[in-house]
Amino acid sequence: MSAAAAPHLKIEQVTKRFGETEVLKDISLSIPKGAFVALLGPSGCGKSTLLKIIAGLEAPSGGSVHLGGQSLDGVPAYKRDIGVVFQSYALFPHMTVNDNVRFGLDMRAMPKAEAATRVGEALELVKLGGYGERMPSELSGGQQQRVALARSLAIRPRLLLLDEPLSNLDAVLRKSVRVDIRELHERVGATTVMVTHDQEEAMSMADTVAVMAEGRILQLGTPEAIYERPATRFVGGFVGNPP
Ligand code: ADP
Ligand code: MG
Repeated sequence: MSAAAAPHLKIEQVTKRFGETEVLKDISLSIPKGAFVALLGPSGCGKSTLLKIIAGLEAPSGGSVHLGGQSLDGVPAYKRDIGVVFQSYALFPHMTVNDNVRFGLDMRAMPKAEAATRVGEALELVKLGGYGERMPSELSGGQQQRVALARSLAIRPRLLLLDEPLSNLDAVLRKSVRVDIRELHERVGATTVMVTHDQEEAMSMADTVAVMAEGRILQLGTPEAIYERPATRFVGGFVGNPP
């Protein structure tokens, strides 16, 4: 395989045990640069654990993760240049929007002027230009989630990981933030892996869906292929096209 065709993110035979329980069983997945992949599966199937392993917040029990051709083995989370957004937003409540978005840049000791430019750009990207001096508590749930997105984009991540990014939002907001995230992906082009248990969300947002159950990937494909030709009864049932 030529270097240009090599996958951007390559997960090979990753396993994870917590004590006696094996929560990830031989996960392999290759993701090209610029893709938007959804990990779709029921609660408890290991989605968040896989995301944490990619982010460097959990160590795998076996297997390897490569990003941009480099092994991430032993590379600490903050040195991976991976942006992570959790469902809980995890904004610092005592810090302004600007300071929240700048957090990762301060961690990297970026000069103040450059950081200010980056923060402004990131807030513009999520359509929150002009909100920099607000406190998180003055924003709606959807706006807070967009601040969390801006914070992860400000570092210009090599990979963007979204863990159930919409599940704390009400139904109406969920639809609009869905569109926002997808538009943002198209503008920024960041390779994105999104975890969700919501098949509609996965099927409407991602180019490629990996359906997971009990620590394994059951099927990988476009939303259309998975819907029309589910590999197993479980997959068919889960994506709303039971046999
Ligand atoms: P999902 O995100 O798909 O809901 P998780 O990855 O959070 O699933 O969890 C997968 C399984 O691993 C669950 O059974 C969960 O209870 C277990 N688990 C997750 N984190 C830990 C941990 N730190 N210690 C022990 N068990 C864990
Ligand atoms: Mg989870």
